Amino acid sequence: MAQKGNIGVTTENIFPVIKKFLYSDHEIFLREIVSNAVDASQKLRTLATKGELQGEAGDLTVKVSVNKEAGTLTVSDRGIGMTEEEIDKYINQIAFSGANDFLDKYKEDANAIIGHFGLGFYSSFMVSKKVEIITKSWREGSKAVKWSCDGSPEFSIEECDKADRGTDIVMYIDDDCKDFLESSKIKELLNKYCKFLAIPVAFGKKSKWDDKEKKMVDTDEDDVINDTTPLWTKKPADLKDEDYKEFYRKLYPMSDEPLFWIHLNVDYPFNLTGVLYFPKVKTNFDIQKNKIQLYCNQVFVTDSVEGIVPEFLTLLHGVIDSPDIPLNVSRSYLQSDSNVKKISTYISKKVSDRLKSLFTQDRKDFEQKWDDIKIFINYGMLSDEGFYDKAKSFALLKDTEGKYFTYDEYQTLIKDNQTDKDGNLIYLYAQDKQDQYSYIEAAQKKGYSVLLLDGQLDPAMVGMFEQKFEKSRFTRVDSDIIDRLIVKEDVKKSELAERDKTILSKAFQGNLPKIDKTEFMVDSQALGETAAPVIITQSEYMRRMKDMARLQPGMAFYGDMPDMMNLVLNTDHPLIKKVLTDAQAVAVDIEIPAPEPKEGEKKAEPTKDIKVELKDNKIVSQLIDLALLQNGLLRGEALNKFVQRSVELI
Ligand code: ADP
Repeated sequence: MAQKGNIGVTTENIFPVIKKFLYSDHEIFLREIVSNAVDASQKLRTLATKGELQGEAGDLTVKVSVNKEAGTLTVSDRGIGMTEEEIDKYINQIAFSGANDFLDKYKEDANAIIGHFGLGFYSSFMVSKKVEIITKSWREGSKAVKWSCDGSPEFSIEECDKADRGTDIVMYIDDDCKDFLESSKIKELLNKYCKFLAIPVAFGKKSKWDDKEKKMVDTDEDDVINDTTPLWTKKPADLKDEDYKEFYRKLYPMSDEPLFWIHLNVDYPFNLTGVLYFPKVKTNFDIQKNKIQLYCNQVFVTDSVEGIVPEFLTLLHGVIDSPDIPLNVSRSYLQSDSNVKKISTYISKKVSDRLKSLFTQDRKDFEQKWDDIKIFINYGMLSDEGFYDKAKSFALLKDTEGKYFTYDEYQTLIKDNQTDKDGNLIYLYAQDKQDQYSYIEAAQKKGYSVLLLDGQLDPAMVGMFEQKFEKSRFTRVDSDIIDRLIVKEDVKKSELAERDKTILSKAFQGNLPKIDKTEFMVDSQALGETAAPVIITQSEYMRRMKDMARLQPGMAFYGDMPDMMNLVLNTDHPLIKKVLTDAQAVAVDIEIPAPEPKEGEKKAEPTKDIKVELKDNKIVSQLIDLALLQNGLLRGEALNKFVQRSVELI
């Protein structure tokens, strides 16, 4: 009995929107149609287990096929099917209110519209000029029906022949969407969205090599594209390490083995399962490349999980599956949803619990992994106060010797020897073991411990530590001469007289090579005979300013400033003593006359100064260059001169 009718009341609005505005996302129609088929099949399975189904459920594989000549893409299932009344109820009567407003607001967001209206099925019109539903209900004595609609608000429905129970959705693909008639495209989409659906989905046949034909030929066996029981749906107790690793390889075929993983499984107050992996990250680029995949009942939804997973954990890999996350709504709605907030808190807690137990159960192993997981943990501590509070008991600090300490352990270690006269605990650190070698050594000789803070986030961590740790300061080992790094009593003044200080300073100043964007302040200190004659330091404050400027574009001002270095002369060293004697011999007191006064003003007194002509003094130049060399500051012409001079000196 053929029937004609109109689909719902506001569908006039739906089709143009579906066709026009959802263009960018339109590949998700396949996800919607295939998951409908899977739903119908699962419902049938449930009926069968309840004993309500007459006869056998049989093979429930959902089949996807392309017919290029006919220009159709078909999804067939052997699920519950629909009666004519059901089509009318579920397909024709798409009753919704406030449709126009909603469409207006979300016209860019296909997921939102589809989710809001339960328009899963209608998304097929994004790519089709006509869609047919050929279906036969599981109920005894049902008649098969064929529904057909060409994208106008009109549809037709009539009885038809269909031997088997279930539904075929036949999509007559639009001329401008011919892509979706390519096997490779369909395969790609099935692989993206349907890889873990709970009912087998077949696309084409498995092929095998034929010796006679000398080519790959299709076999009779369906090529099932999905894994119906993916790892996260199984019980952790039934899984071995190798299973987790294998699943990881399946998700990210090109990546290194993960460091460890966390199996998530909650059913109250929301449902959520999943497996999160801590990946081995080699470069920044790796971090961006692989992402956590979000599923809803094993249907892939998205790999942008911001808002659902705490931000710092978006760097992890793996899968989250939850039927309770309102997936098809807009991002801003998601962020305000209280369930979603709870999920985020839960995941964060689960991750810190797991890390904590790794730490307590096998500290050695945890230490071995630390360098790789540090970036995640540090990022978490920096961005999430709650996570900081949990992680501070197992987060580690590493010293330049490669030893690891918890924050508390380290504090105890350095408390006695590294507290300054004002009661501040001074944490010494190096950012590069090679570059800062001599300073590290000097500090160690003094019995100090030096941390290695060479990670990307370490400058930010230092800032955080100084806020969180009471009366504590972080200082890079080369930020001052060793005696002033941790000032334990008021420093003894350099024994040199002011005049000698000036003479010495001028002798060195006059021999400093020009280095682009670097300025030196010359200072003298009695550092003991065994200390180096010349030491270069850069104040912690200045260096941090410049480091920050590099990271933040708004602070270019600091970045353009020259590096201010201190050139500290050790007045106890015999070579410096010799330079002083030489310089004293050539030093002359001079007076610089004041400029001519303006009318009616008195002429000012001349300023007194000392002139020290010690140009091209080999010892001075050599000492400066050696200090520069130690700091990687000797380059180009200056380095060349140094080499020549050194050869001459030999
Ligand atoms: P949703 O799946 O969100 O309910 P859809 O528009 O995708 O929205 O589908 C509407 C209804 O049509 C479904 O709830 C289901 O009852 C019915 N339906 C769709 N596809 C099938 C199918 N392949 N087999 C049986 N029923 C189906």
